[in-house]
Amino acid sequence: MANDADLVIVGGGPCGLAAAVSAQRAGLRPQVIESGVVVSTIAAYPTYARFFSTAEKLSIGGLPFVIATEKPTRRDALAYYRAVVTYFAVPVRQRERVTAIRGRLREFTVISRTAGGQERTTTAGAVVIATGYFGSPNRLGVPGEDLPHVTHVYREGHEAFLQDVVVVGGGTPRPKRRSICGAPARG
Ligand SMILES: Cc1cc2nc3c(=O)[nH]c(=O)nc-3n(C[C@H](O)[C@H](O)[C@H](O)COP(=O)(O)OP(=O)(O)OC[C@H]3O[C@@H](n4cnc5c(N)ncnc54)[C@H](O)[C@@H]3O)c2cc1C
Repeated sequence: MANDADLVIVGGGPCGLAAAVSAQRAGLRPQVIESGVVVSTIAAYPTYARFFSTAEKLSIGGLPFVIATEKPTRRDALAYYRAVVTYFAVPVRQRERVTAIRGRLREFTVISRTAGGQERTTTAGAVVIATGYFGSPNRLGVPGEDLPHVTHVYREGHEAFLQDVVVVGGGTPRPKRRSICGAPARG
């Protein structure tokens, strides 16, 4: 019996969407399954965040990312990646979390849970995991780490107004001459 999809892509971030566009170009039938909404990591950026990468380096599938400034804002990027999904008709199921993957090459079964709490299975010949790293922070294992005002992601600063704030770790992945998904960028 034919699989539901040739390729299931877990995660609808920029890398999952880029994988889906490439798969479609290769004549495959991809299915993206996203636990939130597409590019939910970017949607969670601080409201007025601006990328350090240029629009060209963030673009995928050859679809031009045209803005008036060199570095896009969070809002520019959200609009662009929504356009990617509609322009390339990327098949994406949102608000559906993948909970398990079973099987082997050409015979995978991907198990997911829909927003309504239903378990769903999708068969596929191959699976791409594009879940990023923002959902798996490096936890310190120290008391207080789970308090509601402690965050493991860069959040909107407004909620810390007039309060003392401790920032633990100051790194950021800074791709050099690479796009957001690691593919060589032009320029
Ligand atoms: C403020 C800020 C500024 C940044 N600026 C830049 C920049 O200028 N240039 C740059 O290259 N990078 C930048 N980054 C990093 C950039 O956001 C990441 O590199 C990028 O989002 C990685 O894309 P991804 O598709 O690998 O992962 P993500 O964008 O994290 O996407 C992963 C997706 O997988 C979904 N997912 C996770 N688990 C499951 C599951 N079990 N089932 C289904 N779906 C699941 C998540 O909901 C998410 O939508 C910045 C980050 C921050 C916070």
